[in-house]
Amino acid sequence: DVKNANEDYFGSYSSFGIHKEMLSDKVRMDAYRQAILDNPSLISGAVVMDVGCGTGILSLFAAQAGASRVIAVEASEKMAAVATEIARENGLLRGKSSSDGTSKCIGLVEVVQCMVEEVDKKIRIEPHTVDVLLSEWMGYCLLYESMLSSVLFARDRWLRPGGAMLPDTATIFAAGFGKGGTSLPFWENVYGFNMSCIGKELVGDAARIPIVDTVEGHDLVTNAAVLKTFDLVTMRPEEVDFTASIVLEPSLSNAESSLLDLESKTSWCYGVVLWFETGFTGRFCKEMPAVLSTSPHTPKTHWSQTILTFREPIAIAAGKSDVHRSAAIGTDGCPATNISLRISIVRASQHRSIDISMETSGV
Ligand code: SAH
Repeated sequence: DVKNANEDYFGSYSSFGIHKEMLSDKVRMDAYRQAILDNPSLISGAVVMDVGCGTGILSLFAAQAGASRVIAVEASEKMAAVATEIARENGLLRGKSSSDGTSKCIGLVEVVQCMVEEVDKKIRIEPHTVDVLLSEWMGYCLLYESMLSSVLFARDRWLRPGGAMLPDTATIFAAGFGKGGTSLPFWENVYGFNMSCIGKELVGDAARIPIVDTVEGHDLVTNAAVLKTFDLVTMRPEEVDFTASIVLEPSLSNAESSLLDLESKTSWCYGVVLWFETGFTGRFCKEMPAVLSTSPHTPKTHWSQTILTFREPIAIAAGKSDVHRSAAIGTDGCPATNISLRISIVRASQHRSIDISMETSGV
């Protein structure tokens, strides 16, 4: 049930390992640090709310960047206590100092231990008074963990009209991958022995459930298509669940082309890899926009990518030669010129996981 799912979820954030992983993710850290520190006109003097502060790192950046008040909200008791300690240790915890006899306000960060949905039960805060809503809410395949709903709740409750979201856009991409994106090549040659029966079984298993793993950019055999773009400023909470159609076109420019059967000009697409980017766009980050990308073409992040394997690989034509223009997907022995897919991502009922489904349709 929801209560147990929440206990498991916030419990998982109470272990330091996951925070070390996030803090060590340079792609993630650089994007947030740039967005917060390199946009002084946005942060300087602003009231910032950090939804799910964890160790408090993003709140510390915001304080460093000159925010006037930073409300760091964290549901995990353990992490809220730790974030408080860290802010204090670094001289950034909001409080009163009376060491010199006069009482003056020091520090900027106030850590609030609660669900962001209930922050007004813990501190005095008027609705629509936050200038910048900051959060690192993204899960595997962007939406796993469904924390986005809490961020949108906070937006509608606490952000002032025209206030900034960091990040303010999120986009899910999809691209087809070739054999190199599977474990088949490994199993085909193990010290000179062919163990491909294992590889085939693994690919069969992979067709049943999405897998979080990395794919290299050179293993992609199609273009990358935008599956879904969220404008975090305007999207409605129910838009988190969606179905989208995309068309992937062969692009066999690199390593995969060496595996081509040049006679038939076909290659094989074994499945689709999903990844996301979040944007800190010029809408709010006027001095220095930033992008956090988890693409196969950019350095790896702790999100890896999400891999959806087809039950059977699909033959696709190399390039866009006219000869194959009229071909249909694999069925008549002709390779397809493109792959049409419908992919839906919806929150699983009653808990924090998501259901992903994918179907291919005719050209
Ligand atoms: N901001 C930190 C931690 C990100 S992980 C960093 O960037 O390193 C997300 C954190 O959000 C977790 O610590 C989790 O416990 C917290 N969280 C998730 N949903 C929340 C909610 N609804 N209210 C408060 N905290 C939440």
